[in-house]
Amino acid sequence: MADITKLNVYTKDYLDGIDNKILYGSKCKKCGNIMVPAKVICTKCQNPDLELFEIKPEGKIATFTCIGVGTTYFVKKGYSMKKPYCVAVVELDNGQMITGQLIGGDITYDENQDPLIGGKPIKVGAPVVGEYEEYKEVIEGKRGGPQERDRCRLVFKLK
Ligand SMILES: [Zn+2]
Repeated sequence: MADITKLNVYTKDYLDGIDNKILYGSKCKKCGNIMVPAKVICTKCQNPDLELFEIKPEGKIATFTCIGVGTTYFVKKGYSMKKPYCVAVVELDNGQMITGQLIGGDITYDENQDPLIGGKPIKVGAPVVGEYEEYKEVIEGKRGGPQERDRCRLVFKLK
């Protein structure tokens, strides 16, 4: 059982990193396990003594899917069956996997029904680079009504 009194990496560190346009992973000080996105407890040895490290959000598409029935977040952004969006699992240059929306234009399909984004083919193995998309998060304030907060999310573009 992990001793949670010894935690020194928190989910908040990862989320604050994204808001500051930094992708954090965590590394176990005991067994050296590397985890991206940053985890709070080592996924191999359950050690709570981890350290944060910065990683470049670059890699290649490991798998992807084009989604027509999206989450509320994407529906509010205007995506639908007629305007699908693509989510990719990206294998980072250090072998870790991270999920993010693939951006760069509308999803269309070529004559073989293979997907394109902004006219470029979406393929497993295609190199991608991350970027941080800024947005306003609306927080239901307890006093004085809803408040806005500047946030970022990590998205990927074909190189
Ligand atoms: Zn470990």
